[in-house]
Amino acid sequence: MAAAVTKQKLSAAKFAVLGGGVSGLTAAYRLLNRVKDPSNIIVLESSNRVGGWVQSCVTEQGAVFELGPRSIRPVGKAGMATLKMVQDIGLEKRILAVPRSHPAAKSRFIYSRGKLHELPTGIMSLIKRQPLFSKSLLPLILREPFVGRKQDDVDESVYDFFKRRMSVEVAEYLSDPLCRGIFAGDTRLLSLKSCFPSVYQYENQHGSILKGAFLTKEAPDTSVLSPLATLAEKERWSTWSIEGGMQTVTDKLHDILKQQGVSVKMNAPCTSLSMTSDGKLTVHSVNDQITVDHVISCIPAQCLANIVPLDWKPLADELSNIHTTTVGVVNLEYEGSVVPVEGFGYLVPSSDETQVLGVIFDSCAFPENDRHHGGKTTRITVMMGGHWFNSLFGDPDSVDPNHLQNVAIETAEKTLGIRTKPTSCLTSILRDCITQYTLGHSDRIKNIFDFIESRKLPLTLIGASYNGVSVNDCIYNAQQAVDRILESRDEIPR
Ligand SMILES: Cc1cc2nc3c(=O)[nH]c(=O)nc-3n(C[C@H](O)[C@H](O)[C@H](O)COP(=O)(O)OP(=O)(O)OC[C@H]3O[C@@H](n4cnc5c(N)ncnc54)[C@H](O)[C@@H]3O)c2cc1C
Repeated sequence: MAAAVTKQKLSAAKFAVLGGGVSGLTAAYRLLNRVKDPSNIIVLESSNRVGGWVQSCVTEQGAVFELGPRSIRPVGKAGMATLKMVQDIGLEKRILAVPRSHPAAKSRFIYSRGKLHELPTGIMSLIKRQPLFSKSLLPLILREPFVGRKQDDVDESVYDFFKRRMSVEVAEYLSDPLCRGIFAGDTRLLSLKSCFPSVYQYENQHGSILKGAFLTKEAPDTSVLSPLATLAEKERWSTWSIEGGMQTVTDKLHDILKQQGVSVKMNAPCTSLSMTSDGKLTVHSVNDQITVDHVISCIPAQCLANIVPLDWKPLADELSNIHTTTVGVVNLEYEGSVVPVEGFGYLVPSSDETQVLGVIFDSCAFPENDRHHGGKTTRITVMMGGHWFNSLFGDPDSVDPNHLQNVAIETAEKTLGIRTKPTSCLTSILRDCITQYTLGHSDRIKNIFDFIESRKLPLTLIGASYNGVSVNDCIYNAQQAVDRILESRDEIPR
């Protein structure tokens, strides 16, 4: 007897996806097999390339310089969703996996007071007093489950949370550099609840980070299972990247969309949105306009604030309060093996007088993306500025890239003892590249989503401005949002 086949209902609706970053490309790809006609999906991208902050430059000799994201964690539903999509688009053979036993997974450093300090990795290093701290960390960790919960519901900064539950030193030397590494932001201004929602939930539900981390089990989601995710778990991957850099993924998504007949328009900024009398949205671009059943905005919140209709002012006001920071990124390549330690890289706490947020040892994790010929080389990336960019370097539009390059080369010499000249160097100023989930972010998000819901607007907002900046979050949130749109239009079986 033939097996019963569940035929998925296909949507006849017309969709406009604003922004061709990883969120927009994922949303369009998710729509692809769920629409009757792929030409009903239009992606509008303002720049001359897709990928957004996912950008990998490959030198003539084959060295990969990542400007934006460089490694992805294969954890949780979102990590599995990314791996599933990578497998679906046929890139699984090109994955570069870093197992948990690898030095790039085990060794992470803080550079402070003129020295590199390896972060504690095991029980022995927790018992022994680390030079960065006045006491051993173990008693603080053992005491943490007994620290009382926060009594009020006022949004708390990442700094205050770690100071309250652990110590001032943990806030200064761990949470501070961590926030600089992930958000290029200030731990005293960032919201714990929005930046680290799982840590927030650990305290909220279990009264302790330690207990929560131990007892919380994510509800399984069979929709994100894939052989690649199973392999990642079996081989205990810590992180992964891909041959040719992360842009391999966004380029492949773009190729598939084009081949399948999706209209991906570049140099096509959406300049405004307007409502039609029958409840649709018209998307205006420079020389064009198109009316669609649903708009999926995957552009930064502040860009969206500038294009919404005037009578959506409460929405525009909330969107324009979601700020971003600018990061200077200097990719360097040297002859030989020049970094004195093996590891992921180092971060610098803001209490050290420095222009640098951190340095990533790219070649340690992903030597496959080094130059292909001519002997061993080392790639590192120096990140600088972030929340402090303007006060350190001035207006990003008038900064001389040579200055950033010199700071990076001097930093590599001072902190890692690299005295040779780099063989290759790429300096980029990434304007407004990382969203800052500052105190009050969750209220702003609630107001934004409530506004859209209350007016029943055919508009969905996804992307790094809202609920997670990692590539995994962008991909998972885009997939979930598309599924919800189709479900609410009653266009996929429940
Ligand atoms: C330096 C750096 C390092 C990072 N490292 C990591 C990492 O190692 N791991 C990780 O998981 N994440 C990392 N991230 C975060 C992650 O890369 C980003 O959060 C993610 O790429 C954002 O994707 P997005 O599609 O939501 O937004 P974007 O990449 O910002 O894409 C939005 C797109 O919209 C376009 N656009 C803007 N306005 C309009 C308009 N009016 N009309 C049409 N198009 C418009 C833009 O040109 C852009 O292409 C890093 C980010 C940066 C900047």
